[in-house]
Amino acid sequence: MIVYNTLTRRKEELKTVRPGEVGMYSCGPTVYSQAHMGNMRAYLFMDTLRRVVTFNGYKLTGVMNITDVGHLTSDADDGEDKMQTAAKKTGKTPWEIAAHFTDLFLKDIERLNIGRPEIIAKATEHIDDMLAFVEALVEKGYGYETSDGIYFDISRFPSYGKLSGNNRLDDNIAGARVDVNTEKHNPADFALWKKAPKEHIMQWDSPWGRSYPGWHIECSAMSRKYLGDTFDIHTGGVDHIPIHHENEIAQSEALLGHPAVNYWMHVEFMQVDGRKMSKSLGNTYTLDQLEERGYSPMDFRYFCLNTHYRKKLNFTFEGMDAAKTAYARLLALLKNCAASDVKTDAAIIENFRKEFSEAVSDDLNIPLGMGALWTLLRNPPSRDIYDAAMWADTVLGLSLDKCTEEVKTDVPSEVKAIAEKRWAARLAKDWATSDALRAELASMGWSVKDGKEGYELTENK
Ligand code: AMP
Ligand code: ZN
Repeated sequence: MIVYNTLTRRKEELKTVRPGEVGMYSCGPTVYSQAHMGNMRAYLFMDTLRRVVTFNGYKLTGVMNITDVGHLTSDADDGEDKMQTAAKKTGKTPWEIAAHFTDLFLKDIERLNIGRPEIIAKATEHIDDMLAFVEALVEKGYGYETSDGIYFDISRFPSYGKLSGNNRLDDNIAGARVDVNTEKHNPADFALWKKAPKEHIMQWDSPWGRSYPGWHIECSAMSRKYLGDTFDIHTGGVDHIPIHHENEIAQSEALLGHPAVNYWMHVEFMQVDGRKMSKSLGNTYTLDQLEERGYSPMDFRYFCLNTHYRKKLNFTFEGMDAAKTAYARLLALLKNCAASDVKTDAAIIENFRKEFSEAVSDDLNIPLGMGALWTLLRNPPSRDIYDAAMWADTVLGLSLDKCTEEVKTDVPSEVKAIAEKRWAARLAKDWATSDALRAELASMGWSVKDGKEGYELTENK
């Protein structure tokens, strides 16, 4: 199996610490709001990697953290605590908010067929592990105390910046900020531990008084706890490369005296109009919002699988429509295969299996693997093709076995509402509005046929 390693900037053969086993750590969600589809692209990537690792015969131990202690609104150490902000807004405690959104997150990933990592580690349940880690760093001379926390001295770690190629030692951007912490030895030094102001709700006892952990220490401490001093793969989004993962590397390597991670893998952004889909830009969609517009979780999964994880993916409803149509067609073709008693030449099936496994094992080239499946489906429908597709679906995770289920089309309430508005416009002989609404329905994948008594909606396949 070949993977692209961000650290070495090239594709490499996966060589595991323990033969036949893979230990993998994935940065998980900060649970102060519902994850959006950009986040979900990251977890779909994690899931695809999990599936390909297992497909290649490895025994997988996956660990994912849940950041439920909150962290500051920027990756650096300034800004407000997201959990605290959400708590203030809703009148709930940060613990209630974290529990609610953790639950929602786990439900959402299940709807997308994203396999749950073997170990889900909540930050609040690992405070002691993090504290011990920070104390050890301070003892070794990598951490120092200021009036508001314990900081990591990046000048003590000469290879700082090796993942992103930016060692930030001469990083003066932070120096230009008004609220710069003048006690820091270097502007890019980051907080390992923060002293809690009285009003900070989530706080714990430490040698430095009531306080709370920095965000980066979470991943260093919990990955080590569950996967050991050296493990195979660490995943996250590309936004984590320059700060969060550099900081994780600094913390872990400073403590251990050797690298903790062998392969760093990062998924590119899902964008909207050329900009990252993100809460702060207000351009996000959640799974529920997509469903309201008539797209199933599998339509979204298909949409994502069509683009390699290291390429940017632009989110558009045209793209979602195309994915929905292609996915429905895939199911329809497979349904014919399931019912067929035709035989397919064994060499054709064998060739497909070879192409598919080579593609997905070459740095997760799922689009190429799906291409092979579509090519296979150009043959006359057969049970052999159906079986081969089910085999491929252990990697794709598209619930292809659902193809034989009766599809009943429930009209989404949003579509129904537009159709009703259109019918009213028609009755009022407002043809312009009626036509505009018909076009809107079409863009959502629905056709409308008018009769004397009313209209009939059909979903475009
Ligand atoms: P966060 O909760 O912001 O730490 O994000 C959770 C995960 O989603 C991280 O791995 C991020 O890198 C990833 N992520 C956030 N926004 C996007 C996006 N627009 N596209 C892909 N991944 C994203
Ligand atoms: Zn992390």
